[in-house]
Order: sequence, then C-alpha cells, then structure tokens
Amino acid sequence: MIVRRPDYYMDFHCLGGSCPDTCCRDWSVVLDGDAMADYAGAPSPLRERIAQALATDEDGDVCFRLGDDGLCALLAPDGLCTIQRDWGEAHLCGHCAAYPRFTEEYGCLSETALAISCPEAARLLLEAPRFALIEADDGQDQPPFDGVDPELLHGLEQSRAQILALLDAGEGTKGTIWEKLRIVLAYALDLQGCIDMGRYDRMASLPLPPTRCPDPSRRQYPAVRLLELLAGSDPLRRDWPELLRERAKQLSALSPADYIALRAGYEQADPRWERQLANLAGYLVFRHWHKAVNDDTLYGRAAFVCAACAALYHLCLFQPGEEVHLWSRFSREIEHDEDELDELIWALDRWIPFDLI
Ligand code: SF4
Repeated sequence: MIVRRPDYYMDFHCLGGSCPDTCCRDWSVVLDGDAMADYAGAPSPLRERIAQALATDEDGDVCFRLGDDGLCALLAPDGLCTIQRDWGEAHLCGHCAAYPRFTEEYGCLSETALAISCPEAARLLLEAPRFALIEADDGQDQPPFDGVDPELLHGLEQSRAQILALLDAGEGTKGTIWEKLRIVLAYALDLQGCIDMGRYDRMASLPLPPTRCPDPSRRQYPAVRLLELLAGSDPLRRDWPELLRERAKQLSALSPADYIALRAGYEQADPRWERQLANLAGYLVFRHWHKAVNDDTLYGRAAFVCAACAALYHLCLFQPGEEVHLWSRFSREIEHDEDELDELIWALDRWIPFDLI
C-alpha cells in the first residue's frame, strides 16, 4: 500500500488556547462506542461534566452539545478542551484527536491531508515553499477497495501527478497561476470525456493540453457571480454569506481601471501571492481529485479547485494579509459540509468557468 501526505505534515502542532479560531465550534462531534465507554469511566467530577455536555443529534447520534454561541460545552474559557486539560489527550474522542488530519482510503492507497479549516494548517500551507507530497510504499500489492475501478484510479493518479507538477513549476516558467488553472480545466474536460465514454484506459496517457488557453478579459463580473453563488449555501456562521455579498457588491462597484489597480496593488504588496495560490490549488487537487472514483465527476472537482482559488484571491484583495483567516473560513464553510460541497461541485460542473480565472 502506498501512503502519502504533504511534506509539512509533521510540522503541525495544535495552537490550543492561542488558536485564532477553534475547531471546538459549530461542528457536531459524534461520539463512537469506544469514547462513550471511556467517558463512563472518567474521574469525578469530570464524568458528570461530560454527561451534562452530551446531546443527541437529529440522526439519533450522541454528540457534544454546542452552546448558543456555537462553542462546545466542554470548551473551557482558556480555549482548551476540558477533557484534554483535566484528563489527558489520550481521552479525546477519535474525531477530536484526529482533526485536522483527514485520511482517504482506496485500498491500495491511503492519503492524509491537513484540513485548512484549521488556521495553523492553513498557515503551514500558505508559507510552504511548494506543495509537495511524501510517499511510502510498504511493498504489499493490495488491490483497490470493491467499487473502486482500478483503471479509473490509475487514470486519476497519473493525471493528478501531471497537475501537481504543473502547479509546482516555478512561477512564470509555465505561465501564470491563472494560465495553469485554465490548463487544469481544459485537461479535466478531456479527462471527463474519457470517463463519460467509459474509456478509463485512455486517461493515463492523456497529455496536458499543449497550448495555453487564451487569457480572458480581466473583468470582475465572473468573480462577482461566483461570490454570489457561494453566498447562497447554508452557512455555519451568518457572517460568511454577509461577507461574500458585501465583497460581491464592492467588486461590482469598481470601474475596470480600479479593479485592475486593486489587483496590481495586492500582487505587488506580496510577491508570494502566486505561490500561495499554487499551494492552495495543489492542496485542493490532492484532497478532492481522487474522489471522482465515487461518482465519476471530475470536471466539477477541477472547477471547484479553480473556483476556490478565484474566490479566495478576490476576497483577499479586500483583506490583504488575512489569507490564513479567509482560507480557513472558506474551508469550514464549504469543504467540510459534504452536502454543500456536492451541490457546489454539481453547479460548477454545469458552469464552464474559464472566464472566471
Ligand atoms: S483549529 Fe487547529 S490550531 Fe485551532 S484548536 Fe483546532 S486543531 Fe488546534
């Protein structure tokens, strides 16, 4: 089995009480049987405290209760988890102990990412010199899980490797980040054609489109449309759609000259902006590309990667220096809600967003 993860993975350390946000907010953490059994044996008075902090969600699962402010009932005022602080990290439930690590298993392949909904994981990605993976192979030749087509997975492996290499190429050597993302979209369209015809065997040998796609006119309206689309999803926190609508309004109000000047000012202020976006695109491709094995939807996922980069770039134009915060909010609101993400991918699958980037 091959095991992969980003090369900055081991640099991650939870910020605990110094975290600018917290993962103990908004999310309903469902407890498994092991955690429940462990908590039944907690020392008093923590045992009673945990019992008071449990609730049952709409699916009938036991989870930690959230307060009106969205915070976990066990989060102490110092920003630390009461279970971890008073009893030890070993007693965190599986979900809390793993976060922000997310592992996707395919039988022959296991991939772990650090979700950028965690601000510290977002910072590591933003500041990484490049998005690179480390890989280990235990030499055991395991087949993919039942239901995972080996040829499709192989085609996704090969195509994703080409995209990550394209994104990794030094700035300017293979075009701008926007040119690279348009190549990704054009490539995904070709790959989707193979998938739709059931010709998975053609995917692995399909080259990246040889020529660069034409540069679209630098107008802000596709980005406005995208921010409005994202604002329509069901939010974790109310201020998220408000922010998106406000930014869409501000973008719409700009003259073409002011829009170009805003972009130029942002890019000149931080020359790493392009590397940061390439890292973001690499992370999203790593995390989402292979999920097409489940539903054959590849183009929508490529469009999601491009849309995420375009949306976050435009949000950052108005809040330069707040990339970590904005990436993390985007990930919390969009990446972690499977239903919202599926709907967005479905919507983008029907919107050929070349003009967006
Ligand atoms: S969001 Fe990340 S850094 Fe913050 S408390 Fe959670 S794991 Fe730690």
